Amino acid sequence: MDHTCRNCGGSGKATCPRCGGDGKIQGETCYYCQGSGTIECKACDGSGKIED
Ligand SMILES: [Zn+2]
Ligand SMILES: [Zn+2]
Repeated sequence: MDHTCRNCGGSGKATCPRCGGDGKIQGETCYYCQGSGTIECKACDGSGKIED
């Protein structure tokens, strides 16, 4: 049975831990999220759901 991923709330995306969601670090594009401010949620691999 699938459950909504609590880590990302079902969006499949998580706030980038490097830039905190800004997409920039010290004025430069965050390399970790490519400036998007979000990364694929690791808990659900970006699917937004977790199998129980
Ligand atoms: Zn980032
Ligand atoms: Zn997730």
